[in-house]
Amino acid sequence: MDGQVAPRTDETATGVAESEARITALLAAQKAGWATDVTPSHATRDDRLARLDRMVEAWHERFITAISEDFGNRPAVVTTLTDIVPVRAAIRHARRQLRAWMRPRRVSLAWTGKPASAQILRQPLGVVGIVGPWNYPLNLVLSPLIGALAAGNRAMLKPSELTPAFSQALALAVAETFAEDEVAVVTGGPDVATAFTAAPFDHLVFTGSTAVGRKVVEAAAKNLTPVTLELGGKSPVILDPSVDFDKAVPRLVWGKLLNSGQTCVAPDYALVPLGRVADFLSAVKAEVERQYPGLPANADYTSIISARHFARLTQLVEEARDRGAEVVELGGAHDAEGRVFAPVAVIGAPEDTGVMAEEIFGPILAVVAYDTLDEAIAYINRRDRPLALYWFGEDKAAETRVLTGTIAGGVTINDTLLHLAQDDLPFGGVGASGYGAYHGEAGFLTFSKEKPVLKQSAISGVKFLYPPYGRVASFMLKLLGRLG
Ligand code: NAD
Repeated sequence: MDGQVAPRTDETATGVAESEARITALLAAQKAGWATDVTPSHATRDDRLARLDRMVEAWHERFITAISEDFGNRPAVVTTLTDIVPVRAAIRHARRQLRAWMRPRRVSLAWTGKPASAQILRQPLGVVGIVGPWNYPLNLVLSPLIGALAAGNRAMLKPSELTPAFSQALALAVAETFAEDEVAVVTGGPDVATAFTAAPFDHLVFTGSTAVGRKVVEAAAKNLTPVTLELGGKSPVILDPSVDFDKAVPRLVWGKLLNSGQTCVAPDYALVPLGRVADFLSAVKAEVERQYPGLPANADYTSIISARHFARLTQLVEEARDRGAEVVELGGAHDAEGRVFAPVAVIGAPEDTGVMAEEIFGPILAVVAYDTLDEAIAYINRRDRPLALYWFGEDKAAETRVLTGTIAGGVTINDTLLHLAQDDLPFGGVGASGYGAYHGEAGFLTFSKEKPVLKQSAISGVKFLYPPYGRVASFMLKLLGRLG
């Protein structure tokens, strides 16, 4: 399902061994640090979040430059919009909510438990390991970190080897901001990542492909380390017959082409009513030309992360064309050297072609014509559960049928991507698109142990159940059986 490019690594055996030793030493230092302050105060957590915010502010221009270097070209606006601004907003949100999130929850007891009292304490788990992908390299490493720090944990970060300039900048920024036993960065490729995920963290967050996610879960299982898996997949867009293309298509094109489709929640394929495909394609083409005129010479358009990824996208289109799909160029031309992949629609590709079987993760829009809504819903439900689902239309009954008839990690109605940008909406996949969630309080809870605590009172009826068992115990059991 992933369709990701096989990782290439230049890691040397000595380099990997050094990284392994560093991972072990850092984890030991962080666990020792944790033991000196098992449940940090509000002030300690707030200070860590404030330092993180200052770090992003101070380094944001260097991060923007480094990320653009890694991509070949990534506009400053895109990195500011998708990496810098959401992270800083999430830090502010966490700082505002922190006291409320930390507060113990009082729980009322059944009469059989009274007059004892009970509460749930929210405590940190310890040390959280965070493994990130390349596509939003800052956001997808620091967003989980915000939840982890808010919940009182320490953390180790492993950013992607495909963004080496950014990873280097992040390592320097973090080293300047945090003690190594609070937050630390480990850099490296799959071999280092393998060692990282085999380390006995108290929790792991993995954002990446489904194939690698499986390996991470296997490695973590050996230590019984719980994992939050943020994976990808094919996110559908349903265009309802009641849709107004003038309203829907600009939003769809924006969500598809932001970061050139290298977005986990990007619309992957569009389900379009039979008989309206031609109108849809001409609306998409006009909108692509409006948002990104003159491709490949358009600085607002993000390049593809590597030549291997560019070659993969080219091959997806060629395979679909060879297998009888219609390929429609949506505007401009490719520039292989600059890794500018001009947007393309692929219509009616067979199910077993890469474009229909794998997550596209690039500026190729697959188009599938459907007849009835039931058919569109069944098409989605036959496949792996998607990370995101989008529906465009005006017909409220159809909207309800789609919402209740499908399962997805998250949904935006009449737009794309935006459910992800809300701190109070939990973000996470389901089935093959992952499990667990974070963002806002959901993240705080993911990185916390909710510890139930019962405080017994001076008077307790439990003594009537002590042995030796006689008539009193029998009477009590009858009472509990009836009223308990
Ligand atoms: P990837 O799985 O190739 O790599 C992700 C991370 O895993 C990298 O840091 C890499 O070093 C590490 N890694 C590689 N091999 C490993 C191993 N054997 N054990 C442990 N870690 C290993 O993914 P990618 O290409 O960087 O990212 C693209 C994928 O990520 C897409 O499928 C996309 O949908 C998904 N994604 C999901 C989200 C989300 O929030 N759900 C966000 C962004 C991307």
